[in-house]
Amino acid sequence: MGTIVETEGLTFDDVLLIPGFSSVMPNQVEIRSRFSKKIELKIPIVSSPMDTVTEWEMAVRMAELGGIGIIHRAMTAEKQAEHISRVKRRASVRYMREKPTCFRPDVTVGEVFKFRTDHELSYSSFPITDDNNKLLGIVTSSNFANSNNKQTLGEIMKPRQELTVVNEGTSPREAYAILKRIDKKVVPVVNQNDQVVGIYASKDLNEALAERITNQSYLDAKGRYQVGGAIGTGEEALERAKTLVNAGVDVLVIDTAHGHSKPVFDTLLKLKKTFLADIVVGNISTSDAARDLIHRGADGLRVGMGPGSICTTRVVTGVGRAQITALLECSTISLKEDVPIIADGGIRYPGDITKAIGAGASSVMLGNLLARANEAPGESVPSSDGRQYKKYRGMGSKEAMKASREAAARYLQNNEPAEKMVPEGVPGKVLSEGPLENILFQLTGGLRAGMGYTGSPTISDLQKWRRFDRITHAGKIESSPHDIYME
Ligand code: IMP
Repeated sequence: MGTIVETEGLTFDDVLLIPGFSSVMPNQVEIRSRFSKKIELKIPIVSSPMDTVTEWEMAVRMAELGGIGIIHRAMTAEKQAEHISRVKRRASVRYMREKPTCFRPDVTVGEVFKFRTDHELSYSSFPITDDNNKLLGIVTSSNFANSNNKQTLGEIMKPRQELTVVNEGTSPREAYAILKRIDKKVVPVVNQNDQVVGIYASKDLNEALAERITNQSYLDAKGRYQVGGAIGTGEEALERAKTLVNAGVDVLVIDTAHGHSKPVFDTLLKLKKTFLADIVVGNISTSDAARDLIHRGADGLRVGMGPGSICTTRVVTGVGRAQITALLECSTISLKEDVPIIADGGIRYPGDITKAIGAGASSVMLGNLLARANEAPGESVPSSDGRQYKKYRGMGSKEAMKASREAAARYLQNNEPAEKMVPEGVPGKVLSEGPLENILFQLTGGLRAGMGYTGSPTISDLQKWRRFDRITHAGKIESSPHDIYME
């Protein structure tokens, strides 16, 4: 007979990291990490692909603040791709504007002004092109300054022969030097046929330079924010992946409730053959799953079966793994193989982030704590108690599965009528906590202090610390404020 009880399942509240000799102050520790093999993070925090947590607005802010957002998949592939594109377009720093808006020479000044207002454009430099996209001239704010609404762009533009242009392939650095030399705001980028492929603007390049100095977020090769997209399994997932990759997604996340399964293996193998983007896979909670998925090419692993605050998987199915135990076990493989793991679910306090990383994770994925941010898409929920709430719900809740067939697919219930669904999550609300920046500040502050107490100068030092005390019920009571009436 084998063992009946395999291991003791420990979670965040069962343990405390043991302190260690320290020669680093919290403000000196380095909290850079990785989400997956290629995706680097300035802060080890990821927003979960849930319909009340991550859409484009959250993803933009997460990227700006040094983390990454994973756009949920409870929508059509096209809609999800639109969210990805919005993040990519929204990047505060851009090197080259690709496929810029161009106008024909017979368009009037009045029409351009209307276009700018309708599309909320903040800039007024546009290349003028013919029907084959060949460059005929350019208009900038100085051309508009002395024009009237009835004039055509052909009449006011600076013509091609008077323009400095750069060839496709010119680097941002070269373009920056040229713009400085000619003292202009923009320079069009043309291909061999003199067709417009982009535009370099000194404003963008100045911002890019400033961003490099403040160094807040990691950017993709084109200077845009990083963003991830969730997909499912099977043919539909491959199609969705293609759509998201075309929209510029940096990392794909196979988002299932059971990552250690044949459909996930098959999908992972096909994705790895087709795409260059990193593929993160989940969810898992055992070292067998970690090993099998790493051997099939996974670039990151989402660990967590049942710890989520909105999750009922464990009570409905009887299956799951307490999160610290799951992390300690999965990381025995992942640290050796150098594949990052993401601690997903059940994080309630800043200290839980330190514990998750202390148990081997490279980053944490948050639902509940980030659904509270203004940037989360969940609606405000009216309340009579004078407090502000926001909607937060499990993607396996009946409400979310009824709202979207794609959400139901995560729990293999996309072909079930609503009355036959067996939910593995609940809908609810969380306290509204204002801007994401403030929430992340508190979370990273706790992590930094925790790294100071364990003497870990970097995330990789903390990952290797792995020294916990198991605490008793009395120890847990002692760990929170006690014997005081709190104000
Ligand atoms: P939280 O931060 O504790 O709220 O956990 C969020 C995580 O719970 C997500 O990243 C998912 O992995 C997981 N999750 C989301 N929806 C459900 C559900 O309906 N049932 C079970 N787990 C879920």
